[in-house]
Amino acid sequence: MRLDCAIIGGGPAGLNAALVLGRARRSIVLFDDNKPRNAVTRESHGFITRDGVKPVEFRAIAHQELSKYPSIEIAAKRVTAIAKKGASLFEIETETGDTYTARTVIIATGLKEQLPAITEIADYYGQSLFSCPYCDGWEQRDQPLVAIVDTADHAFHMGMMVYQWSKDLAICLNGGEALDAEREAKLRSKGIQVYGQRIQSLKGSGGKLSGVVFEDGAEIARTGGFVTTKWEHSGSFAEQLGCALNEHGGIAADDFGRTSVDSVYAAGDASVIVPAQLIAAAAGGSRAAMGVNAELMHADF
Ligand SMILES: Cc1cc2nc3c(=O)[nH]c(=O)nc-3n(C[C@H](O)[C@H](O)[C@H](O)COP(=O)(O)OP(=O)(O)OC[C@H]3O[C@@H](n4cnc5c(N)ncnc54)[C@H](O)[C@@H]3O)c2cc1C
Repeated sequence: MRLDCAIIGGGPAGLNAALVLGRARRSIVLFDDNKPRNAVTRESHGFITRDGVKPVEFRAIAHQELSKYPSIEIAAKRVTAIAKKGASLFEIETETGDTYTARTVIIATGLKEQLPAITEIADYYGQSLFSCPYCDGWEQRDQPLVAIVDTADHAFHMGMMVYQWSKDLAICLNGGEALDAEREAKLRSKGIQVYGQRIQSLKGSGGKLSGVVFEDGAEIARTGGFVTTKWEHSGSFAEQLGCALNEHGGIAADDFGRTSVDSVYAAGDASVIVPAQLIAAAAGGSRAAMGVNAELMHADF
């Protein structure tokens, strides 16, 4: 069967794209291997009507809503390759060896994050150390926080940003690029502490941070905070299909998710790396779905 659209990735971007296309009576398969970026968290915040929702609960509600629409199939499979076959036909291959053909593709595969090389930091990530103050600042308000950063620019930015949620803040440069005197003085004038030395380890238990230990033996008590991470794509589909990238390394796409390759669309973190939010990803999925529907509508008239 020739699908109207193959959606790769079943996070909020792919799910909302599926909803809009299903309601538009388009035949689609939503491929998802269920490894979302926020799997490490207990709760997601900032999505109106869903503030504090558990990531698994969000998905369960979405799947239940999609089940109403007969032209949507959800395939719990990893896509391994996408190849363009002719002007507007794609062949999608999955890990189980199945192949599907589709007239359009939406890439909604999200991001993979790389945490700094600090012993056991992964135990705290998503529990008491997070990446985004908009997502997890409120729950940590007025607590003694740390921001572990990788560049001087991030140090200053995170200092200004996290200060909005807690004035008891320590910035850890972890042996990286030093802050210039002017910006360090600005942070210190607000009572923000700045530590340049490398971190040896984190202290705490059950994911709850209690302190940061530096290589020089110094130690500070902190109950949570933020860490800057490095990002990479979850799949190599952008390269496989020849899609151009944007300045943040995401797949470049216009307001309707159209990439530089005809009939290939992108949505969510795969495209919009900054700001990365559930609601922004869902909105991107909705817009890409409308882009897909508009293309098919014009092609068929
Ligand atoms: C620790 C943490 C906390 C966060 N907290 C919040 C919060 O409180 N509020 C908020 O708004 N945002 C939060 N975010 C950000 C939010 O999780 C992302 O912005 C959002 O999940 C992006 O949605 P997406 O659909 O683009 O990608 P994802 O949610 O990452 O979904 C992508 C999906 O595609 C699947 N996939 C990837 N490759 C393939 C493939 N080849 N084949 C099949 N399936 C594939 C993955 O398994 C995954 O299920 C948080 C992120 C992190 C890391």
